[in-house]
Amino acid sequence: MDLKNLTIKKFHQGLVDRKFSALEITKAVFDLIKSRDKEIGAYLRTSEDAALAKANIVDAELNSSGKIGVLGAVPLAIKDNILINGEITTSASKILENYKASYDATVIKKLKKSDAIFLGKTNMDEFAMGSSTENSAFQKTRNPRDLERVPGGSSGGSAAAVAANMCVAALGSDTGGSIRQPANFCGVVGLKPTYGAVSRYGLMAMASSLDQIGPITKTVEDAAILFKEISGKDEFDSTSVNPSTGRYSDELLNPDFEKIKKLKIGLPKEYFIKGLDKETQKAVQETINILKSQGFEFKEISLPHTKYALSSYYIIMPAEVSANLARFDGIRYSQISNLKSQILNLSDIYLKQRGLGFGDEVKRRIILGTFVLSHGYYDAYYSKAQKVRRLIKNDFDKAFQDIDVILTPVSPSPAFKIGEKTSDPLQMYLEDIFTIPVNLAGLPAISIPTRTNGLPVGFQLIGKPFREADILGIGQWYEKI
Ligand code: GLN
Repeated sequence: MDLKNLTIKKFHQGLVDRKFSALEITKAVFDLIKSRDKEIGAYLRTSEDAALAKANIVDAELNSSGKIGVLGAVPLAIKDNILINGEITTSASKILENYKASYDATVIKKLKKSDAIFLGKTNMDEFAMGSSTENSAFQKTRNPRDLERVPGGSSGGSAAAVAANMCVAALGSDTGGSIRQPANFCGVVGLKPTYGAVSRYGLMAMASSLDQIGPITKTVEDAAILFKEISGKDEFDSTSVNPSTGRYSDELLNPDFEKIKKLKIGLPKEYFIKGLDKETQKAVQETINILKSQGFEFKEISLPHTKYALSSYYIIMPAEVSANLARFDGIRYSQISNLKSQILNLSDIYLKQRGLGFGDEVKRRIILGTFVLSHGYYDAYYSKAQKVRRLIKNDFDKAFQDIDVILTPVSPSPAFKIGEKTSDPLQMYLEDIFTIPVNLAGLPAISIPTRTNGLPVGFQLIGKPFREADILGIGQWYEKI
């Protein structure tokens, strides 16, 4: 059984053709997890019994009806900030180490309906804050392509699980790059949907105006399949969008390549800068050359406010973080159990639970966010950053009058060594320089592996709002040639 090349598409075909059963594959994936994940550390927890039971049910259904949906029995890994009813969900934070989810996230509800199988919850930076998964309170995750290196973050566990074939596909979340950058580092595909395309209900909020859940997969085609399944309006997320507009039709899965080939691609000069790593530059340029030789038309564009993206993100995001994380007061959700005897009074509960429950990076952002929202500083920082955010969005709107899709690098360099950037938060923040503008503008973007031989290097395609079909279409074209 070749788990290595097992995509959602091939898995489905194999099941329908009875080349294997759901139970056989699920067992094989768990065997691999047991041997391989010792060194990689992608999973925080697995749920083998529930997964095998589900595989049996799907096999029985397939035997009796002969029919099965495209995600039927597909073994998925889920980032540990997405709720699955009854399961421990920690966001890789000590403050939630005993928290059991009391409902399903909307994406999980949808995937359960599609009969997908959940293998377990994956490691991440605490509350999705970070770019290397080193901020997890529980364990390190190693990059399957080079064990000395980080898998990226914050969805590093999900990207590593896909890259090491310890699942067929995974879900991550992206607030400033956390799906695309780890996909880039691990050599897999990661899609950040348009803001509002996928319900955030049941996703532990980091920065609510930026967060989106999205797929991490082995192929662009799989990303399209998984995205189609999880997207759509949800009454529990008022920012989600009504699918009755027909925006997500079958064109996601069956692109009209004649139309796709006519899409004009913009290259923003602000993204091809001096500091860009040589290999990254070369790999992205080769991709551009391949697409050019296929007849795609390219045009240089300018997104002049790009240089302010990082600084406005690091005001808006912590402001939202400080508000969202206020709910973790050490009383609701979960407590650090061995603290009880040391707690003397009410304020002691808050101080000790939050003081010991949150890691350094989370505290740093709560403090920064509380500061920028405080009386007297709000106008100077938060309100100004929101205005800059509008200018960044305007840049994209203007560019999209001339072109349809934008192509850029994903990160300034490939996967770095474990420990290399932990002592310097600013170095870590710079990782997201090419991914953050997309979140600020609410656009869809995908990271796709280039054909380089060394460490994985991806390229990013950014689309117009709700035009995932364009970036997935070009991606599927690139995959076929
Ligand atoms: N690395 C970025 C940060 O630390 C993005 C995180 C994310 O997308 N969740 O904020």
